[in-house]
Amino acid sequence: MSLFKQLRKEISYLEEAQIAEIYEAFLVAQDAHSGQKRDNGENYLTHPIAVATVLASMHMDHQSIAAALLHDVVEDTAVTKEFITSKFGNTVADLVDGVTKLTQIEFSGSHAETQAESFRKMVLAMSRDIRVILIKLADRLHNMRTIGGVVANKGKRISRETLDIYAPIANRLGMHALCLELETLAFTILYPRRHRILLEAVEKARGNRKEVMATIEKEIKQGIAKSTLPEVTVSGREKNLYSIYRKMSTRHILFAAVMDVYAFRIIVQSIDDCYRMLGIAHSLYKPVPGKFKDYIAIPKANGYQSLHTTLFGLYGVPIEIQIRTKEMDNMANNGIAAHWLYRADDKLTNTAHIRAQQWVNNLLEMQQNTGSSLEFLDNVRVDLFPDEIYVFTPKGHIMELPRGSTVVDFAYAIHTDVGNTCVAARINHKFMPLATVLLNGQTVSIITAPDAKPNPAWLNFVITARARSSIRAYLKDQKYSESVQFGKQLLEQALAEMSMPLQQFDQKAIDALLEETQFKTLDDLYESIGLGKRLAIFTAHQLANAAQPEIKIDDDKNKPLLIRDAEGMAITFAPCCNPIPGDQIVGYFNVGHGLVVHTENCATLEKLRKQRGQYMPVLWADDVTGDFKAVVNVEMANQKGALAQLASAVADAGSNIDDIKMSDTNEDYSLVTIRLVVKNVAHLERVLRHISQVPMVMGVIRKKQ
Ligand code: MN
Repeated sequence: MSLFKQLRKEISYLEEAQIAEIYEAFLVAQDAHSGQKRDNGENYLTHPIAVATVLASMHMDHQSIAAALLHDVVEDTAVTKEFITSKFGNTVADLVDGVTKLTQIEFSGSHAETQAESFRKMVLAMSRDIRVILIKLADRLHNMRTIGGVVANKGKRISRETLDIYAPIANRLGMHALCLELETLAFTILYPRRHRILLEAVEKARGNRKEVMATIEKEIKQGIAKSTLPEVTVSGREKNLYSIYRKMSTRHILFAAVMDVYAFRIIVQSIDDCYRMLGIAHSLYKPVPGKFKDYIAIPKANGYQSLHTTLFGLYGVPIEIQIRTKEMDNMANNGIAAHWLYRADDKLTNTAHIRAQQWVNNLLEMQQNTGSSLEFLDNVRVDLFPDEIYVFTPKGHIMELPRGSTVVDFAYAIHTDVGNTCVAARINHKFMPLATVLLNGQTVSIITAPDAKPNPAWLNFVITARARSSIRAYLKDQKYSESVQFGKQLLEQALAEMSMPLQQFDQKAIDALLEETQFKTLDDLYESIGLGKRLAIFTAHQLANAAQPEIKIDDDKNKPLLIRDAEGMAITFAPCCNPIPGDQIVGYFNVGHGLVVHTENCATLEKLRKQRGQYMPVLWADDVTGDFKAVVNVEMANQKGALAQLASAVADAGSNIDDIKMSDTNEDYSLVTIRLVVKNVAHLERVLRHISQVPMVMGVIRKKQ
């Protein structure tokens, strides 16, 4: 009876009749498990009670809690499913049956195919009633919390399974708090030594960070105090050990770099307050460009909503800030389990349920469409770990890489020597070039040549820190003569593409080029190209101009450089006029800055014309891709919800807000400057149309300066 008392306190949010039914379930479980002990010697009944308590802490419905109390009786005792149906009805019996089926699945890590088959069964069990997986997750959480009594081998197997299967599922369902606890417990069991060392390091770092954290917190609070924002909670946030470990091991980031971030969470009253708070944060510290994420307008797949931004704090320390409402915070911690009972009238959680159900339905459809269990598991992995891809070595080892990784990233992930000497790859038995972006599930075999060397051009497409730093290190060590030779080769290639072979130029042209680029000798210039400091294509154009000063730059021998992408090459888009595909553009080459693309009518360009520098004809390629930045000014009425509507209008038009600044012009109107991410001029026009349809918006115009 005393055991039930504990649970009774936790379920006081339920109605009396429901509590009575849970008590009935308790009596059945007590009777069925009597005399049974757990691995740690405790009375077995403590386990189902604890599982029910976990669910009660999430305020789950009474059927889930009754099923939690009964979750092990069919598996371990004489009680049958029929008996449960007769006493508690079909729903509770089906939940217990579903959890029993899940428990019988063994994810033996040794064999990929058995593991895949098990996962397939799990999806089937889950698809009937999503509460099955919530009960199973609570069961796994309690088993992990009490894993101390389990023999070491079994403990490691359960922990591996928790990290591979259950924690990602919890994350996919938005149950962040539960996911974190599962990960931390499993990490402690699987890597006790790494855990201990990391823990010591974090504790040491914590001491040093304390003062900085306190100063930043004080400054943020002072900023809020000057505003009219009601009831704001600011709290410092520490990354959990496992996520620090994961960052270090998969992204190859040093401990100091992971810890050198000061993270805060700010909880406000309304969606509108979120954007106002963002404005306050951006006026306190300078935001880091490109780091702002609006997950309120565009929630994550698991329903997560929040504004994220990174700021340059005192002495340039990065400050990460998350801003959200209380409801969003509850969603962020408990995901699908947040407010389970009130889902009918709560729009926020209701959409979380619909999303979760959609996900499970998709999984189900996927498993019907895929031939083998392994293929199915691959697809699920993409879905559970959206930022990572899994590729195989020829021997079948799995390599985990960030999405977007290329053959060269893969080669360096295997070994620096493999990266330094790679020349091509066989992907699923087909020969592919080094810049090929890898896809999930491919088998990659790297082809090396003994005298091959890293190419500075690789820096344009590799994305892992490891590949980048290895290539840079190699290039730095490269002997002068090698760079000279290599740079000459690159320049010859670039000139050949313009059908102007290097031999064609006389000494006068070369001298003119050297004067233009301010190098003493041609070898110095070659070296600079060979080391990747200058792009060969620009130097080729400069040489062409030096040789024929009388010929205008738009001569057709001097073909315009085609811009195909928002990134890559040493091209930057001028922040003064933010050109996007469709705009008339001009390239301006400046020693030390590379090629900067301006819009043709940019006023900055007018000033630059008088300075030393070189124009270069540029054109958008027909198939230009990527995300471009455009800045717009919006004049809008100061009304509640205005910013939220603005953000969702932008999202509706398929765009994204990259940065937002507000200047209060007067009491009634605000000028909001937003930087948008768009594909081209047509896309921008669509976004502007959407913005102008927001009732509070008085006017919107693209900002060109
Ligand atoms: Mn259990």
